[in-house]
Amino acid sequence: MIKENLAEVEEKICAACKRAGRDRSEVTLITVSKTNPVVRLKEAMDCGVSVFGENKVQEMLEKIEELPDSLEWHMIGHLQRNKVKYIMGKVALIHSVDSLRLAQEISKEAVKQGTEENILVEINVAEEESKFGITTEEAIQLVEEIAKLPAIHVKGLMTIAPFVDDPEENRQVFQSLKKLSVDIKQKNIDNVTMDVLSMGMTNDYEVAIEEGATMIRVGTGIFGRRSYNL
Ligand SMILES: *Cc1c(COP(=O)(O)O)cnc(C)c1O
Repeated sequence: MIKENLAEVEEKICAACKRAGRDRSEVTLITVSKTNPVVRLKEAMDCGVSVFGENKVQEMLEKIEELPDSLEWHMIGHLQRNKVKYIMGKVALIHSVDSLRLAQEISKEAVKQGTEENILVEINVAEEESKFGITTEEAIQLVEEIAKLPAIHVKGLMTIAPFVDDPEENRQVFQSLKKLSVDIKQKNIDNVTMDVLSMGMTNDYEVAIEEGATMIRVGTGIFGRRSYNL
C-alpha cells in the first residue's frame, strides 16, 4: 500500500513540476510519519524514503532512537520551549518557529550544545485563529530579530494552509507565502536565506508545487488515514 501510494504521489509531484516548468529536484518530499508506528516507517524506508516529518518531540525522539542514523528528520509541529533542548542536533530543519522567544531558546540551546540549527518561520497566511504562526505583517521584523541570534539560521518560510475541499482555494495562500519570501529575500538580511518554502500537504501539494513549494509535507497520501487526527 505504501509503495503504491508513494508511486502515485511521485507521479503527481512530477506532473505538477512539469506544469510549472520546474525541475523535480527542486521539490523535497517530506514523508509525514506522525502517529505511525516504527514498523510502518521501516516499510516506507524499504520503498526508498529517508526524509521523515514528525510533529511531537517525544514521538520523534523514540523513532530516531530506533531507526538508522542515515535518516533525515524534520520537526513540523508546534514546538514548546521546554522541549527544544531535546532535539538540538537531531533534526535537519525546524519548520515551526512562530515567536522570537522560541527562536531565542533554540539559539541558546544550540550554543550550549555546540550545534547549529536551521529553521523556518511559520506564517499563518490565512490568519486562522486555530493555527499557530505569525501574520505576514509581523514576518519581516521577526526574521530580522532571529537573524541576529547565534547558532540559528533562517532558511525560509512555512505555512499550513486552511483545510478546504477544493485545493484551488489555497492557491492564493501559497502565492502569498511565495511573495513574502521574495520580499524578505530582497532585504538581503545577513544570516537569512529564503531557499525553502515548506507548503502543501496531501490535499493541496500539487497546487503548492505549482506556486513554488520546495518542500511538501505528505502524510495521509502516503500512509493512509491516521487512526486519530492531529
Ligand atoms: C500532519 C501534518 C502534515 C501532513 O498532513 P496530511 O494531510 O496527512 O498530508 C503536514 N504538515 C503538518 C504541519 C502536519 O502537522
